[in-house]
Amino acid sequence: MKADLHCHSSVSDGLLAPAEVARRAVERGLALWSLTDHDEVAGLAEARAVAEAGGVRFLDGSEISLSWRDDTSLHVVGLGIDPAHPPLVAGLETIRAGRDGRARRIAAELEKIGIHGAYAGAARHAGKASIISRAHFARFLIEQKIAPDMKGVFTHYLAKGKPGYVPHEWASLENALRWIGGAGGLAVLAHPLRYRISRDELCVFLGEFKDRGGAGIEVACAGHSAEEVQECARLARRFDLKASVASDFHGPGESGADLGMTPPLPGDLTPIWRDLI
Ligand code: AMP
Ligand code: MN
Ligand code: MN
Ligand code: MN
Repeated sequence: MKADLHCHSSVSDGLLAPAEVARRAVERGLALWSLTDHDEVAGLAEARAVAEAGGVRFLDGSEISLSWRDDTSLHVVGLGIDPAHPPLVAGLETIRAGRDGRARRIAAELEKIGIHGAYAGAARHAGKASIISRAHFARFLIEQKIAPDMKGVFTHYLAKGKPGYVPHEWASLENALRWIGGAGGLAVLAHPLRYRISRDELCVFLGEFKDRGGAGIEVACAGHSAEEVQECARLARRFDLKASVASDFHGPGESGADLGMTPPLPGDLTPIWRDLI
């Protein structure tokens, strides 16, 4: 099954409209695809229509930002959700509402180091998107030649511990899992090796995640080495989680990997779509 169950459109911080990402999913020969915009479901109907017209099976999805313990931000992808489920809709609205104040605080921090106009600049890059994400700030900083590329931006400015990072309260794990489960979806931990927490803490998180109804973990992530895929596969086995496949595509030229450019899933794992299609 050629699947890709994690990517973004311009409804959040991707560069292409939902219909354009969907056309790309068709052109790149995906059999199963999900659009998973950050804290948003607004692009799903458009994406589904184009994907299904092109013969691609589509799962409604969203990547939800959550806070765990002190100041650890983690991402959980909900797959197969009902995008109209009222508690999910209300919960995502709350997260999006919190993003504007955070964006203003990020801009205030950048101002302190002499970078002016970052809020307006990020908002301009966000365009019609319903969120401002750090990716929009990153595009502004690159445009202003303050950093050469996305990697440079996050290494020096927007990541935890750098000027331009601000702590933020996202959804709780409990709420995120309740919204996803209530909407009939499955919760999948996104890009497990990308967080700034120790492997022990990640395992503590996965124990809680599983206990509260978490169903899966991304294993075949774009850019992962064979060893990294195996590391995620060990976590999937240890916590009895189903495995997902993720490019985390944000747009041509910017993302390292295009849609569907993901390593193979180890054959002994149960794919997350087993219970979804
Ligand atoms: P936010 O949800 O506002 O915290 O922004 C997170 C987004 O910033 C991610 O979804 C990516 O789009 C982008 N991002 C974060 N870290 C990196 C990185 N190291 N390289 C490129 N993009 C990143
Ligand atoms: Mn993003
Ligand atoms: Mn993410
Ligand atoms: Mn993502």
